[in-house]
Amino acid sequence: MTTRVKTATEIQAMRESGRLLGMLLSKLEALVEPGISTKDLAVVAARELKALGASAPFLGYQGFPDVICISLNNEIVHGIPRADNIIKDGDLVSLDFGVNYRGMITDSALTVIAGKASNTKAIELIKYTAASLDAGIAVVKDNVRTGDIAAAVEGVLKKHGYGIVRDLVGHGVGHELHEDPNIPNYGRANTGPWLKAGMTIAIEPMATLGGEQVLLRPDGWTVCTRDGSLSAHLEHTILITNDGAEILTQRPN
Ligand code: MG
Ligand code: MG
Repeated sequence: MTTRVKTATEIQAMRESGRLLGMLLSKLEALVEPGISTKDLAVVAARELKALGASAPFLGYQGFPDVICISLNNEIVHGIPRADNIIKDGDLVSLDFGVNYRGMITDSALTVIAGKASNTKAIELIKYTAASLDAGIAVVKDNVRTGDIAAAVEGVLKKHGYGIVRDLVGHGVGHELHEDPNIPNYGRANTGPWLKAGMTIAIEPMATLGGEQVLLRPDGWTVCTRDGSLSAHLEHTILITNDGAEILTQRPN
């Protein structure tokens, strides 16, 4: 389905959904440290979500087996939490999580370094991928085109020489986890579908320290960089307003 202009009631539910998601991602980020398994993090995510009276849109989505995607280092997205996947010092850890609250879905991701962050290139990759997300959000307003957002994201990532993952894209969100249209992280301004105030979208740059080619692991889910380079993934669900954007998945400071 194509993402709809949401009603006031739906927007209020999405604000609540996004607030819970931002809070939970903050909590999980604080738990990322050497020695914890990706499954340990997923167990906390599932428990906290349930305690808040929300549900997990990722669980069972096209058969995905958990509530959260956790992807390490050269894994870009869709990593399946595993008890034997122990996070090590210096690992790049991407947490991609979703919340369904009162029927409205929000989607957000962050990348953080576990333990001691000494790899300057990895630190910068996260920093500038975040800057590309900010740049994409900054051009959003009523009647923005998907290409405008794409070009803004691409501009920042290109400037820093990062690989831009093309096989995975942002999307409309709200009633379903993935709604049309696609919001790519590369493209030309003044192209693509128009977006209206009241629509909700997920912008999610994925960048690598190497090339843009990806590889699907035999588990059928985990998407990795083909050249083994590190990657970062950041995502916010936003509400398009008349003159800008409201970030629905902002994390508490
Ligand atoms: Mg996501
Ligand atoms: Mg998404």
